[in-house]
Amino acid sequence: MSAENKSPQGAPRFYCDAMHGGLARWLRAAGYDAAWEYGIDDRTLLERARREGRIVLTSDGPLMERRAIRRGEPRALFVPRGLDSREALRYVLDALGLPVRDPHCMSCGGALERVPKESVAEEAPPRTYRWLDRFYRCSRCGKLYWQGTHWQAIGGTLAAMRKRAASRPERGEDGDAAREASE
Ligand SMILES: [Zn+2]
Repeated sequence: MSAENKSPQGAPRFYCDAMHGGLARWLRAAGYDAAWEYGIDDRTLLERARREGRIVLTSDGPLMERRAIRRGEPRALFVPRGLDSREALRYVLDALGLPVRDPHCMSCGGALERVPKESVAEEAPPRTYRWLDRFYRCSRCGKLYWQGTHWQAIGGTLAAMRKRAASRPERGEDGDAAREASE
């Protein structure tokens, strides 16, 4: 794995509008390159998305009416309002027919690499260290992940989506296994 945040070949990259920071984090968890910036203005967002070839994700009707988007430069997908971050992720993956990929760092989108347990002895909370064996580090920002409750909740949510994608059930069902996951 490289330290660069390259999307897998052909995978779309995204620019989430100012409202969709939570969606950006979940897109990264699902293995996609998703940019987001607090308080970014529309013009800057559109220009960056166009330059970097990213699909704009927004729930802002007037933004969808901007000329640049009507021209398809950049491309954009309207995300219905009122969805929580995971529902929005599901909506985007369904709408674009995209699979769930290997998880990336939710903070920065960097690739996660398994690290030896001994190497995190000083850093992991003592109880966590005692009970768990699998630790991962973001190759970009260095954030440490482990397969504790948070990680399982992320994995559970993504696995449920994978299963849904495989069996293609009716949309609208909402029985998440990992409801309690922290954002
Ligand atoms: Zn990171």
